[in-house]
Parts: sequence; C-alpha cells; structure tokens
Amino acid sequence: MSLMRDFFRKIPLARQVYHRQRAPKVPDISLAFPKMIRLEASSYCQLKCPSCPTAQGDIHRSLVGSKFLKFETFKRLVDGADWVKEIELSNWGEIFLNPELVSIFNYAYKKQISLVAYNGVNFNTVKDEALEALVKYRVKALTCSIDGASQETYVKYRVRGNFDQVIANLRRLNEFKKAYKSEFPRLTWQFVLFEHNKHELEKARALAHELGMEFYTKVSWDDSLAAKVDGEPGSEPISEKVSEGVLQ
Ligand code: SF4
Repeated sequence: MSLMRDFFRKIPLARQVYHRQRAPKVPDISLAFPKMIRLEASSYCQLKCPSCPTAQGDIHRSLVGSKFLKFETFKRLVDGADWVKEIELSNWGEIFLNPELVSIFNYAYKKQISLVAYNGVNFNTVKDEALEALVKYRVKALTCSIDGASQETYVKYRVRGNFDQVIANLRRLNEFKKAYKSEFPRLTWQFVLFEHNKHELEKARALAHELGMEFYTKVSWDDSLAAKVDGEPGSEPISEKVSEGVLQ
C-alpha cells in the first residue's frame, strides 16, 4: 500500500474525500432520458406575420427546413423513448396544418403522453375532426396568439389571418369540451402588444374571459412594432394573468 493511501486510512474524513474523488462519475440520467421534449409538428405557416422568421423564409432556409412531423416518425420516437411524458409540438410553424395531427394526438393518448402547444398556434385553419381530437385525446394545453379584438386590428400583424374564424374555432372547441365534460385542452390567449392594438386590450381580455381562456400580454421583440410607453418600446407589463377565466 502506498504511503499516501496509508495516510488516508488513518484519517477518516480525509479517506472519504479521497474515495469520493476516485469514485467513477455518475452520468446525469435526466439529460439522457428527458421527460419533456420539443418536436416540430409543422414548420409551415399560412400567415405572414412581419417579424416572423418562418414568414420571411428564414426557417425554410435553415437546418429545420419546411416540413411536417410524420406520424410514423412520431410513433417510432415515442415507442423507443418510454421515459418521455410530455411533448411540446409548436415552435416555428402552425401545427394544425399537419395532415397527420389527429393520428399523433391519438397515439400520444394511447401512450399516456401529454401534448402541449405552449409556444403558440394561430388557430385559423382547424378541421372539425382536429377540434374534436384535441378534446377526445386530452391534449393538455394550447396557447393561441391573438393580437386584437377585431379583424381590422388583428390582421395588421397576423397578415392573412381571419379573426372571426379563430374565435369560431375556439367556440367550437368549447362545444366539444362541454360535450366531453373535459377541461382539456386548457386554453391561453396570448396578446402581443403593438402600438396598433393597445386600444383593444380590454376588449380582448373580456372575450378571453368569456371563452374560458387565461389571458396574458407580451411585448413584441420587434422594437419597430412594439407598444410604446413614454415613447419607449417594451415598457408595457409583460404578463397579466386572468386566472378567473380558466374553465374548471
Ligand atoms: S402565426 Fe406564428 S408561425 Fe405563423 S407567421 Fe405568424 S408568428 Fe410566424
């Protein structure tokens, strides 16, 4: 035995430190087996919001490209990763354009995986089958980006969007929630504040409440369009949750 090891054997605390330093490093399992992951269900979008990289074609030209998540790919991934319990489906595009979305909802439900779209959906083009599937397969949460309370204001940023259609889709979704007696998906209205829509903030908040949605505001990261207070962009409150609007 070496002199050094002999020395540590005689001093208990020093021996512990010595052994700890020599113990093999345990890998961080949570990184190798994440419970939550994000997938791109769609990197296409039908709208043309002025500050959006998808609308500008930057996402199409990037590594992500323009694609839909295929059902078979989704199935293969979740079958081989039973540690995944929640999947975020929204990111650079509109998930409801994905033609296999209902199959993805259905399979996630069978595998007891929660699906969420916290990053946001524009909710303009949603088939009745998909609206029902959101409820039937208990998709957990949706954040709808609606920056106005009228078509005239909404379309200034959500170019090509149809405000009345979005609200009609939300009402139809609530009919399914009532029919299935379900609180899912939980709905949030995200209102990005611009100079051109500040006057409709309270009207939008009231409508969100009527639709059983949480409501919050967010300042646009595009300073050229962001709402200004005292002449400065981005000075509006970041978040104003309206918890009484949540369906129980
Ligand atoms: S709705 Fe979203 S993804 Fe589509 S163009 Fe607008 S910001 Fe981009």
